[in-house]
This record gives sequence, structure tokens and C-alpha cells, in this order.
Amino acid sequence: MADRIVTGDLTQNDRDQEVQLRPQNFSEFIGQQKVIDNIDLMVKSSIMRKTAMDHVLLSGPPGLGKTSLAMLISKALGSELHLVSGPAIEKKGDIAAVLTNLKPKDVLFIDEIHRMHITVEEILYSAMEDFRLDILIGQGASARTMQIDLAPFTLIGATTRSGLLSNPLRDRFMAHLNFDFYEPDMLAKILMNNARKMNLVMSEEAKMQIAKRSRGTPRIANRILRRVRDFALVNNSKQVEHKEVQAALRLLDIDDLGLDSMDRKILSVMKNYYQGGPVGIEALSATLGEDKQTIEEVYEPYLLKEGLILRTPRGRTLSEKATKHIV
Ligand code: ADP
Repeated sequence: MADRIVTGDLTQNDRDQEVQLRPQNFSEFIGQQKVIDNIDLMVKSSIMRKTAMDHVLLSGPPGLGKTSLAMLISKALGSELHLVSGPAIEKKGDIAAVLTNLKPKDVLFIDEIHRMHITVEEILYSAMEDFRLDILIGQGASARTMQIDLAPFTLIGATTRSGLLSNPLRDRFMAHLNFDFYEPDMLAKILMNNARKMNLVMSEEAKMQIAKRSRGTPRIANRILRRVRDFALVNNSKQVEHKEVQAALRLLDIDDLGLDSMDRKILSVMKNYYQGGPVGIEALSATLGEDKQTIEEVYEPYLLKEGLILRTPRGRTLSEKATKHIV
């Protein structure tokens, strides 16, 4: 079976390789200029004020650089980064332990913050606003609230679905920054830096070819690049050319529009099973046997951006472009 490029679930091997290619400083972080301008100002202001940077919410599809940016922010602030996954924090005690561990100006990064349990989320309200933990002890008439002071810290929340955040949580973030898909010329720059890190020499054409087929996503560009490196290595090629890229794309089952097998399966089901729609997300998910959230958060944003599917009040419909592309 072809190696599926799912941007959500990463294997340990993926993660290890990602560490290698993560931007090590702001000059290696390409694109997202609006986001970077905001962050640059906030970091500088925090350093001058000698206090924690304001809380910030980063939203956008997976693989666009939210975690990488959080790492660069904590580095620039000279503080420690604590990484947690929202849905993995199950109990109030777990988040309390994380929060009480923070030192002044530390950065707490909560990934998939929209999937956090509501009881855990509620602990964050006073922690974010007043750097204070309010913990209810006991039950009924004897219940009382205990308060614990926290070190001033910065919360960076990352979400693929900012619309699913509750209002009280969203309102506590001073900055809301949105990541867009990358244009091919930006991905080409990322690929150039990473090819250098991997000691790969690549033709201009090969680089652009990968950039155009990476779903506007650096994580995917990096994955294709690694597979291209494998081909070059095995074939003893001195320079990566069109041929190696074509072979890697074929192996990864990526087509001319940069769509992978799951993207095409979604479009194909919509065309052949639902006659182009409109079809609701529940029905689509059941027919595909794929989790609803994964379709909405991982696949759909790019298909919408490329105008392959359209969202209507009655459900998703297939565009003419998609109808022509899919057999
Ligand atoms: P997210 O947290 O949004 O899912 P990551 O920060 O984990 O995305 O990014 C995935 C990979 O893509 C990183 O390991 C990094 O190599 C690469 N990457 C993402 N954004 C950029 C960027 N702006 N410049 C260079 N590389 C990037």
C-alpha cells in the first residue's frame, strides 16, 4: 500500500525526522509574514517589559508550523517550553501539575486546545487571566476554594479548528494568529534549506515540482523530500532531478494536483456515491470509514482552498474542477 500522507497522526520516526528539519531560528522560518510580524513585536515587548509574553492562539491546518513557531518563541524569550496535547490532559490535577511547574516567563504550548476537556479548560481561565489556580476542595456545604499563585507564564494554544473553542477560552488569548497554506515559492525556500541540511543537491525544476505537490504544507514537502533523498541515494544520483521526484510522488501516490489517495477517495465517493452532493459530513464519514474530525481538520481545508469541494448550507458539493479530475 502507498505510504499515506496524513498530516495529523505522526509516527515516532516521523517525529524524530521532523526534529532534524525544524527551523532553528526565525530566519529559517519561512513565510507566514503577518504571524511573524505580530510575534516579533510581542516577543520584543515582553523582553523590554521583563514580563511574560501575552497569551497567543495559533490556528490553522496541521503541518503549517505552529509547534515550530512556539519553539522559536520560547527560544527568543530565553525561557523553557512545556509541550502538552489538549486531549491528553484528562484530569484537573494533571493541568494543575503542569501549571504549578512553570517558572516565570515560561511558555506552555497546548496542542489541539479545542479538544481539551471542559473541566480542564475551566482551570485555565483564572490561570491565564490572573496567574492563579482556583481549586475546589470538598463537596456540598463544606466545599471551599483554594487559591495557588502561579508564575507569570505565556500560553500558546494551537488549534486546527478555532471555531470550536469556547468563548471564555478564546477571549483570554490577547492575540489570535491564523496560519495560511504556503504558496509554492515559499515551500521551495523551505525545501532548499532542508535539502542543504540533508546534503542533497537538487535541480530548480525538482524543487518546484515538490513544492507544487505538497498541499501547501511544509510537513508534506519535507516527507516528499525524504523519499526523494532515498531514491537519489539508492540510485547513486549526484543531483536530484525530475526523475527522482516523479518516482517518489508515484510511490507516495500523489497526483498532479498534489492530492493523496485519501483526498481522491473523498472526491470519488462524493462523485460516484452521492452524485456530487450535497452530502453531510456524517454521511461522508460513515461511507469513507474515516473519522469525521480527521476529514474536517486534515483533508477538507485544502480541498476547499483548491476549490475542489464547496460548502453549502445543505452540505458539501463537488466542484466542476473536481468532477473533471476524478474518474
Ligand atoms: P504544526 O504544529 O502546525 O502541525 P509543525 O510546526 O510541527 O506544524 O511543522 C511541521 C514541520 O514542517 C516542521 O518540523 C518543520 O520542519 C516544517 N515547517 C513548518 N513550518 C515551517 C516554516 N514556516 N519554515 C520552515 N519549515 C517549516
